[in-house]
Amino acid sequence: MNVLFVIGTRPEAIKLAPIILECQQRDSFDVIVCSTGQHKELLDSAFEQWDIVSDIELAVMESGQGLNQLLSKLLRQLDKVLCDVNPDCVVVQGDTSSCLAGALAAFHREIPVYHVEAGLRTYDKTAPFPEELNRQIVSRIANIHFAPTEKNKQALIMEGIAEKDIVVTGNTVIDALMMCQKNVDPESNPEIQKLQRIYNPEKKLLLVTGHRRENMGAGFSELIEALCELASEPSIQVIYPLHMNPAVREPMIYALGNTEGIFLIEPLGYEAFVWLMSKSFLIISDSGGVQEEAPSLNKPVLVLRQQTERQEAVEAGTVKLIGTLREAIVQEVRELMVNKEAYLDMTQKSNPYGDGTAAKRIVDFLMASE
Ligand code: UDP
Repeated sequence: MNVLFVIGTRPEAIKLAPIILECQQRDSFDVIVCSTGQHKELLDSAFEQWDIVSDIELAVMESGQGLNQLLSKLLRQLDKVLCDVNPDCVVVQGDTSSCLAGALAAFHREIPVYHVEAGLRTYDKTAPFPEELNRQIVSRIANIHFAPTEKNKQALIMEGIAEKDIVVTGNTVIDALMMCQKNVDPESNPEIQKLQRIYNPEKKLLLVTGHRRENMGAGFSELIEALCELASEPSIQVIYPLHMNPAVREPMIYALGNTEGIFLIEPLGYEAFVWLMSKSFLIISDSGGVQEEAPSLNKPVLVLRQQTERQEAVEAGTVKLIGTLREAIVQEVRELMVNKEAYLDMTQKSNPYGDGTAAKRIVDFLMASE
């Protein structure tokens, strides 16, 4: 079976890597990895640790281009890939423009589409933007839907998707996380070595990530103020691996570049990021993947959003939606610092996103459907 993986960004790379590796271990598959170049550096750094190399590399990014330019370029370039490779199926993951274009291009060529991480919903087209709608559209296109949780499956069924076309798998990010934890050797990872020089175990580490389009402008200004206030406390250390997007990175460097107690660093490879999560007291983030991973590391996540398509984590109590107001961020962090019970309550839960066997389930299904 000739399987084409279309991958554009870091989370897609991290979450598809376990499936690619699982396919590569079995004789039944010819795996072709197409990286679209949507977030090239972040994707390459995520693949590096698993020795995954893209077979096809597109270059769709151009500075200042809008979503329509990006999508139209992706469709044109992916169509050529489909003609050249002629795959038996296309696998896409999540909700990015690359995911949407991969699914749509395959549909136009009548090639079956398998969607990994299907059925997550906010039902608000503006958040996450444009990802909520991307994911919904891919659900209209896909032939098979790999839903991380039962809740995701129910959302798909409510939208009229046949139960036989949905497989509940868990989230492959937990597979990736567990692979990292098993294989990590801090002594031989240069990024971790570097982190060890700034990480201060005597302080409480607040690990921060943020890159969502909806938070640009007002949201990030509030976050900047909150981080300044928190970092002024001697017991706190803030480490913030920046995203490559200049619209997020530049205001952060301008406002926080010289603030004592705050370390702005380059985006980390996955292994180093997992190591840093494991050292943190808590995580402040607007990332989707981090909400899924942190419960496995027993770390609370304060989510810089009003709503999330990862409701399971909110219901389990492992993450808390706090929005982006300065006061709320400062208050929620302080509460977890002083209230031991509240802290334990967020960290002693089992992870609703699975047990690290999602990739095996997905590949078993692919083999059975050959
Ligand atoms: N991540 C990483 N290095 C970093 C920051 C995050 O490897 O410096 C990982 C993180 O563990 C998670 C994924 O990247 O698995 C999240 O990516 P991102 O926040 O870009 O996207 P989202 O999850 O919001 O779609």
